[in-house]
Amino acid sequence: MSNDVIVFGSYVQDHAWHVDHFAAPGETRRAYAFSTGPGGKGFNQAVACHRQGVATVFMGAIGHDPLGEVAQRFAAAEGLACRWLIRHDRPTAASSIVVDSRGENQIAVALGANEFFDPAFVRDAEPEFVGAKVLLVQLENNLDAVIAALRMAKKHQLVRILNPAPVHPKLERDLLVDIDITTPNETEFAQLLRRMTGVKVDPAGLAGTADERLHQWARELEVPTVVITLGASGCFVSHGENQRGDNHPYYRVPAESVKVRDTTGAGDAFSGGLAAGLVMFPGVPFLRIAQWATRVAALSTEEIGTAPAMPVRREVENRFGKPQAH
Ligand code: ADP
Repeated sequence: MSNDVIVFGSYVQDHAWHVDHFAAPGETRRAYAFSTGPGGKGFNQAVACHRQGVATVFMGAIGHDPLGEVAQRFAAAEGLACRWLIRHDRPTAASSIVVDSRGENQIAVALGANEFFDPAFVRDAEPEFVGAKVLLVQLENNLDAVIAALRMAKKHQLVRILNPAPVHPKLERDLLVDIDITTPNETEFAQLLRRMTGVKVDPAGLAGTADERLHQWARELEVPTVVITLGASGCFVSHGENQRGDNHPYYRVPAESVKVRDTTGAGDAFSGGLAAGLVMFPGVPFLRIAQWATRVAALSTEEIGTAPAMPVRREVENRFGKPQAH
């Protein structure tokens, strides 16, 4: 069976500590829980997409080490197809995530093998792109490999989604030119805007900014569709000429009301859910697909962890119903 979605991106072994509130610099705080599990923006997004029942392949790099074995075992148990680049000279990436009682997080990540992805490996994987519909990438890998994936996707006419996280210090407009849809969160949107246009905006003020102004700023990025995720405020969609079946060029989708336990990976659930939605609901207005992504993301916050916290399609439908076709 051919793949519908290719997720090219990072694998990271997450280590999460749950605290009542964050430690001040120099302070030691006792954590009331610890968990470890697979993560990384790319892998989380691939799992979110795969759990919607969409044929997904993940392409990523790990080390020849015990954490790399955890990655392979989890993917195999999940039934997620993977093209692993296994590096003997670099470690599997690992992160430290501290989550407070409000579900906010502070993260440090060592990207290890992710930053040493061989672009030739992507080119050798060309058969994966034949017949696929969507490529989803992020920025936790070396940019030359991300660009190789985007070029290959362009050659085979896939819809190209960039989750610009974290904004790479060397990100240039050239890369944005090759994208159909981008899904920055508030911080990433502010950073992109500053990098591409010099305009400075306060990320914390974006959710409260007038829609017309947000749309104007989003258009400055020159990406056909920009979806700014706004945490508990949902997301804002801005289209250029191609409105992807929507009646309006820009609008908001409110967040779903859920019992939040851990928002880590919510953005990944959103991007993975969006990629899946494009395949699951062809010809349906983009608004419905953004809504699906919002629902996948909302449910992911009810579970602790990142990849393991992604909901399956049935859970999303049971809670929120099936999407409307118009
Ligand atoms: P990131 O994790 O990249 O910072 P966001 O915080 O913007 O991304 O969250 C991504 C999406 O997850 C939001 O657009 C929203 O749909 C959903 N989400 C995040 N926080 C909540 C919340 N507290 N309640 C419901 N949905 C949420």
